[in-house]
Amino acid sequence: MLAPIATTVAEVREAVAAARRAGKSVGFVPTMGALHEGHASLVRAAAATSQFVVVSVFVNPTQFGPNEDFAKYPRTLESDQKLCSESGAHLVFAPTAAEMYPERSVTFVEVKELDAELDGPARPGHFRGVCTVVLKLFNIVLPDVSHFGAKDAQQARIIRQMVRDLNVPVVVRVEPTVREADGLAMSSRNRYLSPAERALAPAIYRALQNAQARAAAGEVDVARLESALAAELAAIPGARVDYARVLDASTLQPLARLDREVLVAVAVFIGTTRLIDNIVIGERGIRNAVS
Ligand code: AMP
Repeated sequence: MLAPIATTVAEVREAVAAARRAGKSVGFVPTMGALHEGHASLVRAAAATSQFVVVSVFVNPTQFGPNEDFAKYPRTLESDQKLCSESGAHLVFAPTAAEMYPERSVTFVEVKELDAELDGPARPGHFRGVCTVVLKLFNIVLPDVSHFGAKDAQQARIIRQMVRDLNVPVVVRVEPTVREADGLAMSSRNRYLSPAERALAPAIYRALQNAQARAAAGEVDVARLESALAAELAAIPGARVDYARVLDASTLQPLARLDREVLVAVAVFIGTTRLIDNIVIGERGIRNAVS
């Protein structure tokens, strides 16, 4: 049976209230749609944790820059509804932009410091848009637990901070990155890749694994790790490295030596498609999650 689609805030509130009256716990997975197996893993995790699972599908205009891919971002609601239903969702919330941002919406949420590196400077305003829409969605769905992907490590770290700093009564869970068989992190944007670009893209994860191998072999100098990583990514034909960074996994600030858990995060344009990926290197080797 297909999970119904709600398009208004009122419908979601009503459905969640009914689930609450039936004594059910509520899980939530926010997405922008064009769903794939990575998203399905979040929905399954939510269904394993909570009794009523809501998935939002909303291409959020406030998190896209003026020269980004908002207009061409894939919209595949029908297959998204199917994937959500098969993965254990009970309700899909697919609002319009006007429903989420009525005229004269002038309130935004900003998490400082954690946006100083990586996608913060690379995508000005992005995390402000993400935090604002996620807090709004939390306030609409009122979930007990919300599930995010380690694929967007900085986003997950920032959402955790927002929830802590603003006393939002939601448990944030971060689930491992789901990859294709050749290692490429699943992403809605992978469908922009030409066959030739798709064949090159797994080199991104191989470069991250090589950074891990260098660290395991005893390299502790972060500048050397970063430059080797950047050089390897730049050697992918047609690639342009946006960033290749090794940061303190908790503060997302630069560091000089590998003396604590680090986030190794990259953003690479393959042709015109911007892909991001990351791994966490801790004392016990790779841990594919931020906490
Ligand atoms: P998106 O709709 O792709 O912006 O992301 C919605 C949620 O799915 C976010 O929490 C992402 O981190 C998560 N996600 C996206 N891709 C993956 C993946 N390959 N593995 C696990 N989670 C993912």
